[in-house]
Amino acid sequence: MDRVILHSDANCFYASVEMLHHPEYDGLPLAVGGDAEKRHGIILTANYIAKRRGVKTGSALWEARQACPGLIIVPPNYDQYIRFSGYLREIYSKYSDRVESFGLDESWIDATHSVGIRGDGLSIANEISRDVKNELGLTVSIGVSWNKIFAKFGSDYKKPDAITVIDRENYRRIVWTKPAEDLLYVGRATKRKLANVGICTIGQIAEADPDYLQGMLGKHGLMLSIFAHGEDKTPVAKENTDAPMKSIGNGMTMPRDLVNDMEVKMAFYMLSETVATRLRENHFAGNIIEIYVRDNDLMGFTRHHKIPVPTNISDEIARNAMALFLANYRWHKPIRGVGVRVAGLKGENYPYQLDLFNSEERREKQLAADRAVDEIRKRFGTAAVQRGLMYFGPDITPRKRQEQTIHPHSYLERGNLTMG
Ligand SMILES: [Mg+2]
Repeated sequence: MDRVILHSDANCFYASVEMLHHPEYDGLPLAVGGDAEKRHGIILTANYIAKRRGVKTGSALWEARQACPGLIIVPPNYDQYIRFSGYLREIYSKYSDRVESFGLDESWIDATHSVGIRGDGLSIANEISRDVKNELGLTVSIGVSWNKIFAKFGSDYKKPDAITVIDRENYRRIVWTKPAEDLLYVGRATKRKLANVGICTIGQIAEADPDYLQGMLGKHGLMLSIFAHGEDKTPVAKENTDAPMKSIGNGMTMPRDLVNDMEVKMAFYMLSETVATRLRENHFAGNIIEIYVRDNDLMGFTRHHKIPVPTNISDEIARNAMALFLANYRWHKPIRGVGVRVAGLKGENYPYQLDLFNSEERREKQLAADRAVDEIRKRFGTAAVQRGLMYFGPDITPRKRQEQTIHPHSYLERGNLTMG
């Protein structure tokens, strides 16, 4: 039997939450924007009135004001958005114990087991939409389908305050006729590559030979072929909605002692990857990096420091961990165990991401590479991807199946991946 999966997307989330708190702005164009004092302030989101007047997410505040005179710009209030994000998940979790968030304002809900008790997917979507409206005063767009990818497509298809059912009868007509970039994980670079060979719609992705797509885009191409056919089987993850995590960490006792900086660095990279993966799975980023080091006499210490920009990028976590280590350890004894932890967690949509001073492009690239690794691991297991660095010390890396090894850096350097 097919699964019944909903993807619910709160419309203009930040702006809608602000409208709730500012009834005096009713009927006026409103945007939530970065610090207006700073040169780099940008629009994070806008209400529909502002959007209709040409205000675009990501544009500079001055551009937005030029496009829409009289635009009200309020600073972001993340505590508020995180709170409302929790309320949304509370409502969803009445319908399923499988609710997986995708950013603060989007969630997948696996309603397979509610069907029958509460009617079909469409009627459950209607109930959820009504609950959100009544209890929170927000509107959502919901997609209903048998897989996560088409459910997500459905929630984007019609907004605001809409429900779109993508079923096995209509998906060719509704999904396949749409531009390739409307498929989740077809970013700008992928779109360009596909267009170069005449693939411009999702249907054309589906009809292309999967081997051909793989030749052009690597594993990512194969994944897109599966997505376009509605054959993605990825489950909706179970999340703990009532106990928010304070930190995410991982540590290990080494199969043999580490004796120099290079080996410690490898261990930190390994651990940072698992930590970063778990952060991203939960849509968190954190700005406190902590390390734990234990020597072979079992004497241990922890050190932490704060970084300016919350991260869920393994490379950044590892580099900070290593810096902490170098600043705090003198090689008097070999090391038996190390750990890495990230605390100070915030929703990953925290707009620090857009701080241009932190070489946004580099971070985006790393994040894209990390997401590619996540995706591959989800499909082929954790051992499928190891950083090239690991090959310097195979005896301290987890055992892996060589034939499945993919180097994330070369994967990225071929430039075939832009996520989102
Ligand atoms: Mg949204």
